[in-house]
Amino acid sequence: MGKLYVVPTPVGNLEDMTFRAIRILKEADLVLAEDTRTSGILLKHFEIKNAMQSHHKFNEHKTVESVVNRIKGGETVALISDAGTPGISDPGEHIAQTCIAEGIPVVPVPGANAALTALVASGLSSTPFFFGGFLPKSRKNRREKLAEWKDIPATIILYEAPHRIIEVLSDIEDAWGDRTMTMARELTKLHEEFFRGTVSTCRAHLLEQAPRGEFVLVIAGGTKVEEAPTGDPLDAVRRLMADGVGKKEALQQIAKVYKLPKRELYNRLVKEGVEDE
Ligand code: SAM
Repeated sequence: MGKLYVVPTPVGNLEDMTFRAIRILKEADLVLAEDTRTSGILLKHFEIKNAMQSHHKFNEHKTVESVVNRIKGGETVALISDAGTPGISDPGEHIAQTCIAEGIPVVPVPGANAALTALVASGLSSTPFFFGGFLPKSRKNRREKLAEWKDIPATIILYEAPHRIIEVLSDIEDAWGDRTMTMARELTKLHEEFFRGTVSTCRAHLLEQAPRGEFVLVIAGGTKVEEAPTGDPLDAVRRLMADGVGKKEALQQIAKVYKLPKRELYNRLVKEGVEDE
């Protein structure tokens, strides 16, 4: 019996390829790649002269059977994707699940991943976090998904394409309010950039400077507030703000729970000298 290795590749910076990943790719009987042309460049750079077979979302159900048979016959297969960790918003999940179901050892190799790289420099809490991947492309489905995830009490990580990001941020603000968030762009590359603000300030930034490159969105989770409100509502607002919830969103949530007019809370907040973000 052989093995299936799940091997991450860099998300931009070639120096993020690990020694172990290179060795496994060199030793494998077969490298399964999402796009053999893209991965061919990477393999050439690391002088990996191995046989490659394509394995992408359009053929993965077909390739799985033959790959499983080869592994059962004693071969070692290394799975890679175009960038980052296979199986994370990339093909890989299906083949790993099939191998596990067939009793084949699946060996994960740690390495580059855009979501975790963005999270650790976002400034938001990393425990707990929720990885949502790409939101649905259709606006209707996206809004449904956002409504479903509104109250997740964890930092939320999303992937998004540059041509949709402005529209997506506007949907996020409509659904979740103006939460604290960090936009990570071009991670590990020359023009790596972090924009830390709120959903609306990130959107305004992109309206000024057209989105280019790859983005990860790291967004504060929906903080649950007490069911039966007790104590000073202003303290509850301050607690939420200390947890990273934006002032507007905190006021909205607490006013709703305490059944108070938002304006009344806002005026008290201003009177007590709480600064606008
Ligand atoms: N499997 C990959 C991983 O482990 O991160 C993710 C692949 S997914 C198809 C591609 C998306 O990941 C991009 O649209 C972007 O949201 C994010 N991404 C990948 N590389 C990135 C980078 N260098 N900087 C920012 N985001 C990146």
